[in-house]
Order: sequence, then C-alpha cells, then structure tokens
Amino acid sequence: MAVELPAQITVFERGWLSSNNILLTGGRETVLVDTGYCTQANQTRALVQDALAGRTLDRIVNTHLHSDHCGGNAHLQEVYPSVRIGIAQSQLDNVQSWREEALTYRATGQQCPRFVAHDALSPGDVIEMGDLAWSVVAGAGHDPHEFLLFEPVHRILISADALWQHGYGVVFPELEGEDGFADVATTLDRIEALAPRTVIPGHGAVFLDVEEALARARRRLAQQREDPRSHAWHALKVLLKFKLLEQRRVERASLLEWASTMPYARALGMMHFVDEPLPALMERALGSLLKSGAARQQEEWIEDGC
Ligand SMILES: [Zn+2]
Repeated sequence: MAVELPAQITVFERGWLSSNNILLTGGRETVLVDTGYCTQANQTRALVQDALAGRTLDRIVNTHLHSDHCGGNAHLQEVYPSVRIGIAQSQLDNVQSWREEALTYRATGQQCPRFVAHDALSPGDVIEMGDLAWSVVAGAGHDPHEFLLFEPVHRILISADALWQHGYGVVFPELEGEDGFADVATTLDRIEALAPRTVIPGHGAVFLDVEEALARARRRLAQQREDPRSHAWHALKVLLKFKLLEQRRVERASLLEWASTMPYARALGMMHFVDEPLPALMERALGSLLKSGAARQQEEWIEDGC
C-alpha cells in the first residue's frame, strides 16, 4: 500500500547506491533532502528538474555526509549555482576545508565530489521546508554527525540511516574502534519518544509500521552488541557490495585488491579477524556475497547481483 504524504513532499525512492531524495515544494523555497551517490547525479538532477517544472532549487539539506547521501551536491550546485547547502554544524569545517579523511571517503574507498556548504544545522533547530516546520533531531549511531528531521503536525520523520523498515545502517564509529552501539540505542529511544506516524527512511520505502521497525532494529542491535564480530562481518560485506553497486562489473582480482587496501577493511581485520590475513578475509566476504546472490561471477568478472 502506498503511503500518503502531504502533496508538497515527493520522495524519490532510489535504492542502495543512492539514498532516497526528498523534495519539498509548496513553500517560498524548494528544498531537497539528500542527493544520492555521485555516479547517479545525472539521474538525481533529472528527477529534481522534472518535479520542479521550471522552479529553481533553493536549498539542499544533508542528513549526514556519507557519499550516498551527498554525492549529488556538487552536480546540483553546478546546475543551480545559488542553491544553499545545509549540513551538520559539526561537519562544517571539514567540508569547507574538504578533509576527505574526516569525511570518511578515504576510509570507505568511496567517491564524493567537493561541494560548498552554507548553513550549519544543529539539534534543536527548526527549519521550514515545504511550508512545514521541521525539528532537527540528533541521530548519532550510524554516523556521529547524523541528524533526523521531524514534522510534528503530520508526525513525519525523515530518519536517514538511523531507522529503516528493516534495520539501520552500519554503525561506522564501531569500525574505528569507538562505541557506536550506545548511540544507536539512544537514537532509537528518541525516535520512539517522537512517536512518528510516517517514516521516510534513507533507503527503502516510506513506512507506517514504526513500532515493528523499532522492535526489529532493537533486536538487531542486541545481537550486534552481543557479537560485535557479526557486525564487523556485515560491515565488510556492505562495503564490498557498495563497490559492486558503484562499479556494476569489475575484475575479481582488482576488486579483491581494492578491498584489501580499504582502510576500514584493514581496521576491521585487525580488530575482529586477527588470525585471518586480509586478502583471505575479503575473499571469504566476496564468497558470501556470491552465495547469497548479492554478487555474481562470470569467469574472472564479478557483477552486482541485485
Ligand atoms: Zn549513511
């Protein structure tokens, strides 16, 4: 069943390489929340241009700065030179100086073209988008700088990667040996307290069964806390799968070579799989993707399986 949203909100449901994009019109300004991955920036622009039907794009807001959520910023900034980009206050310096290390693009081996940000957003701020007032809500866990956006009249939550209908994103601080699971729990509690009626997630369909989604997310979190190695294993496969989504088709040897030099893979190997050399570990992760159908092999080539 399609979920009904106020007419001024359009959700472009994209998939896993590009996050969903949420276009808010109707107000004085037009706003796009999250812009997808850079290799699909043309498609993002076409979707936005088509829906705006001649209006300009006034603002972009990024829930967080993972490459699949802000990879389209640079291209949209070229097309709409006056667009203002709003990001988490805590990331403003990193963006203005373009510190790829701090922005994690180096660690994940992903790409994100440089863009310029204008507005700093912090939890507690209220911003107008589509003639509605949205609260900026802290959403750490998946990413320490992530925020959610909540509209209290229709009780709509833009949840980014903090809550999906079936789970939530990889807990990135854990890949750096920092505690992220506690923040995931706090954010899930915060979402429960907001009691949203409709959730627009960063990936996947808009959903209404919020209680069930929270219960599923908490079960997953309990299991990951019990067995952090299972989370690390999941993260390795997600990073590998993302590369496949990006490349579509890649030589097996070069994929494994890339995987064995990715900083997050090295860190996870050292923390959780000390007895297994990294190339063997990544070979095993690829084997698992092939077995589940998430990847396909044709002679020496690996293809995305979805
Ligand atoms: Zn993310």
